[in-house]
Amino acid sequence: MHQKDKARILIVDDEKMNLKVLADLLKDEYTPVLARNGEQALQHALSETPPDLILLDVIMPDMGGYEVIKTLKNNDKTNNIPIIFVTALNSFQDEERGLMLGAVDYITKPYSPPIVKMRVRNHLRIVHQYKLLDQLAYLDGLTEISNRRRFEEVFQKEWARSSRNGTPFSLAMVDVDFFKQFNDHYGHAMGDIALQQIARALECALRRPADLVARYGGEEFVLLLPETDALAAHDVALRCLQKVADLQIPHLYSQAADSVSVSVGLVTKGIDDIASPQSFILSADKNLYLAKERGRNRIVGSVIGL
Ligand code: GH3
Ligand code: MG
Ligand code: MG
Repeated sequence: MHQKDKARILIVDDEKMNLKVLADLLKDEYTPVLARNGEQALQHALSETPPDLILLDVIMPDMGGYEVIKTLKNNDKTNNIPIIFVTALNSFQDEERGLMLGAVDYITKPYSPPIVKMRVRNHLRIVHQYKLLDQLAYLDGLTEISNRRRFEEVFQKEWARSSRNGTPFSLAMVDVDFFKQFNDHYGHAMGDIALQQIARALECALRRPADLVARYGGEEFVLLLPETDALAAHDVALRCLQKVADLQIPHLYSQAADSVSVSVGLVTKGIDDIASPQSFILSADKNLYLAKERGRNRIVGSVIGL
């Protein structure tokens, strides 16, 4: 396995020897990261590359393991990192306290190295499965792009961020033209394949990592374009039209083009915007409706609050 694919295990202990023993035990399968005290442990946990699991000693000078776990559990960024206590404190009361504070496991010293290894492996497997489940809950089953639920979450966050920072923010509603006709003539299965292809094409039209394309429902997609003004958003929308046209999915029953096309309702939030998130989406919907009314296979956009 490549080094960067290995799970990172943060080992926290004030005794150098203990760190070395655990690191040696785990280094073949994982990437051990070492901390000599609570402060260092928190720094690692909050870094750009947080650990996948933490092995935490209880008794350390200055900041003990119980304090470390409380701090980690109180922070949204770190409260999901599983923590295993590895400690010489071996009474039931100590173990109960550790588990009550949110540790997933409690290992007492002296420990059996193979058992430590297996417990680490088991907990990492659970973490991995949770991550997969979490991803699935945010994916659209047909197109495998983000679903409506993910869109709603990201939209709320980006809206708040844009209001806080006074940065522009654009949103595009994209709807397939004459798609009922497409299904009626080519069949629902072909319709499904077309939607999958369109989802890929819309993904290709995006350029920035913060941009998001999601399936809004049926044959409607939504693009979130943070820090994107009206001009740049229009460029993205144009690329969407072009990428979908490039697919050249024949549609003899469309009155908008020879192949499958989309219409886009675009809206941009200006700096002085006081609109609500709901009215913002409503504006995009209205623009989409206008694009349909004006002949489809086109973009209608507007800016709220210049
Ligand atoms: P317009 O150009 O005004 O958007 O017309 P339209 O026919 O695209 O719009 P309408 O809302 O009348 O029809 C939408 C169609 O999209 C009907 C529905 O069966 C189809 N559709 C929605 N979801 C799916 C899907 O998951 N798979 C397939 N194959 N078709 C879908
Ligand atoms: Mg449609
Ligand atoms: Mg529709």
